[in-house]
Amino acid sequence: MTETILIENDAKALVQEHLDRLGQPKEIQFTNVEKQALYDEIAAELKQRNAVLVAHYYCDPEIQALAEATGGCVSDSLEMARFGRDHPATTLMVAGVKFMGETSKILSPEKTVLMPTLEATCSLDLGCPVDEFSAFCDQHPDHTVVVYANTSAAVKARADWVVTSSCAVEIIEHLDSLGEKIIWAPDQHLGRYIQKKTGADMLLWDGACIVHEEFRARGIAQMKALYPDAAVLVHPESPESVVAIADAVGSTSQLIKAAQTLPHQTMIVATDRGIFYKMQQAAPGKTLIEAPTAGEGATCRSCAHCPWMAMNGLDNILHVLKTGDQEIFVDPALAQRAKMPLDRMLNFTANLKR
Ligand code: SF4
Repeated sequence: MTETILIENDAKALVQEHLDRLGQPKEIQFTNVEKQALYDEIAAELKQRNAVLVAHYYCDPEIQALAEATGGCVSDSLEMARFGRDHPATTLMVAGVKFMGETSKILSPEKTVLMPTLEATCSLDLGCPVDEFSAFCDQHPDHTVVVYANTSAAVKARADWVVTSSCAVEIIEHLDSLGEKIIWAPDQHLGRYIQKKTGADMLLWDGACIVHEEFRARGIAQMKALYPDAAVLVHPESPESVVAIADAVGSTSQLIKAAQTLPHQTMIVATDRGIFYKMQQAAPGKTLIEAPTAGEGATCRSCAHCPWMAMNGLDNILHVLKTGDQEIFVDPALAQRAKMPLDRMLNFTANLKR
């Protein structure tokens, strides 16, 4: 069995510090009339700016519906990047978290990339500061550096490969077949999952997603006792014990597919509840249940909904479309370096599809 070596770092403290500064996200409820008025205004602004709305599955359903209604897309981070690059719009409004906006800018430097708020980030990105990470890589020059898409442009620029959860296993398998030793960052749970699947030689950065880390095997087993015929769908950013009791493990897109294709009528879903919007579309007759998290205690800032994804709203989308602030800039030299490992991933996955 492969030994897991975790790379110690300050990720937890950095994330905690950021969350304390952020406070709890504000929930704004709109009436149907207000919502429709916002939809109409946003649609008009998108048109006027020659912009398209690209939204992640974890955004609130109302944003996903708006993206669909206005000719944009709702998808995982890999498809968001591809869609933005290939779409003729000159402005991309990226509803998600900052690394997604940066990836869009790296792949489409000629386009204006706006986000509802640049404050929306990710615990994985926060927990992997480039200086600390780069110093670690420098100490292991014989290792291939593979980073998850949930990282800053600077960390990507230090990497040999970028991967998303939808293609990570295949890419690590490929590198392992070439005999390469790997530094993996930042999600330790996803890294461990891939290591177990592939048997690759991997050093794992000790980072985690605060949403998926809250799922607990015990709570899911108790829920399964209430719904014995349900399938358990798990994102591999969840702890190993949760992955172990899953009927399907995969990226957001893979979980949506699993909800559609598994014969079960009921699904217990261990990922951000934003996914329910597209999952229910894909599996209309099925019952979807949120997997329980560790609870409302001190560590539960997420409770199955990412606090940073929750910062995207109709009000700030409209404000940014009107003002043009919250634009993503990436230093061109850095972007050029970060594009190389991103292109490697895109080319690799394009070949997989053939
Ligand atoms: S759900 Fe987790 S991985 Fe996704 S953006 Fe939020 S903190 Fe990051």
